[in-house]
Amino acid sequence: MSGTIGFALHGGAGVLDPRHFPESRRRECAAALGAIATRAVDALRDGAAALDVVEQAVVELEEAPFFNAGFGSVLNARGEVELDAAIMDGRDRAAGAVAGVTRARNPIRLARAVMARSEHVLLIGAGADAFAAECGLELVDPAWFVRDERRVQLANARAEGRITLDHDERYEAVERVSGTVGAVALDRDGHLAAATSTGGMTNKRPGRVGDAPLIGCGTFADDASCAVSATGHGEYYIRRVLAHDIAARMAYRGEGLIEAADAALAAVGAMGGAGGLVAVDRDGQVALPFNSPGMYRAWLEPGSGRVRVGIYRDPEA
Ligand code: ASP
Repeated sequence: MSGTIGFALHGGAGVLDPRHFPESRRRECAAALGAIATRAVDALRDGAAALDVVEQAVVELEEAPFFNAGFGSVLNARGEVELDAAIMDGRDRAAGAVAGVTRARNPIRLARAVMARSEHVLLIGAGADAFAAECGLELVDPAWFVRDERRVQLANARAEGRITLDHDERYEAVERVSGTVGAVALDRDGHLAAATSTGGMTNKRPGRVGDAPLIGCGTFADDASCAVSATGHGEYYIRRVLAHDIAARMAYRGEGLIEAADAALAAVGAMGGAGGLVAVDRDGQVALPFNSPGMYRAWLEPGSGRVRVGIYRDPEA
C-alpha cells in the first residue's frame, strides 16, 4: 500500500501552430483535458483502481470530438475509420487490444473486454467487431465516427500523396483537431495501468496497424516499473518498442522515469519519428516528453497535488 497516486493523459503529440489555433478552440480543448484529468484524479483519491480510471479517462477522450480516437477519428485511404486501442494492467501484465475495428463506439471498452473476457490479447477487424457484439458493447454504424473536417484532411493528404499524423503542421490552414488519446495511472494500492486509443494516421493504407494496440510499443504497464501511453508516428514507436524500452531502462539499468522516458523518446527522434508520451511510475512521478512543437496533455503534478494542463512547451494552467 503506497497511498501515493499518479495520473497523466494525452490527446496527441504535435499541435497546431499557435497562430492558426483559434483562442476559443484552444481554451475549449484545454478545459476538456483538465476536466477529464480532474475527474480521474478525484476517482484515484477516492480509491478507484488505476485500470478503471485509465479506461474511463480514455472513454471520455474518445467521446470528445477534438481527438483522433473514437468519434472524430481520422480516415484511411478509402475514407473509412479503422480504430486501434489497448489497455494494460500493471499488476499482472494482463493486456487487451484491438486493431482495425469499425463498430464499437468505445474501442477502449472493447480492448478491456478482450483482456477480461477472452483468452487472447489482440483481436483485429471483423473478428473483433463480432466480439464487441457478443460482449453486448454499444455498436454504431461506422459512418457515425466521421466528422466533415476529417474528409477535408483526407482530401489534402490524398492530393499530396502523403500519409499524415493528425497533427501534421503542413495542414495548418485547415481547422484540425488533435490526436491519439491515452492515460496512465497509479492507484492508492500501488498498481499501475495504461490505456491508448486512436484512429491512426490520415490516408493510412487499409489494414495498417499502429503502435497503440501493440503491447510494449504504444502501451505498456508493469507495477515493477511504470505505465506508458505514446502518441506519434507509430511505425517508429513499433520499431523502437518505445513503451517497453522505458520500462526496461528502469528495470535493467536502474534509470529514473524521466531519464528513461527522455532517452527512449530520443531514440525514436534519432530515427526520424515525431511524437511524445505520458508515463507514471510507482512513486507517482510523471514524465511527459515530446519532440514535436507540443502535446495535448494534463497531469497530476507530484508535490503540489494540482492538475496541470499543457498544449505547447509551457503549461496552460
Ligand atoms: N501513434 C498513432 C499511430 O501511429 C498516431 C498518433 O499518435 O497520432 O497510429
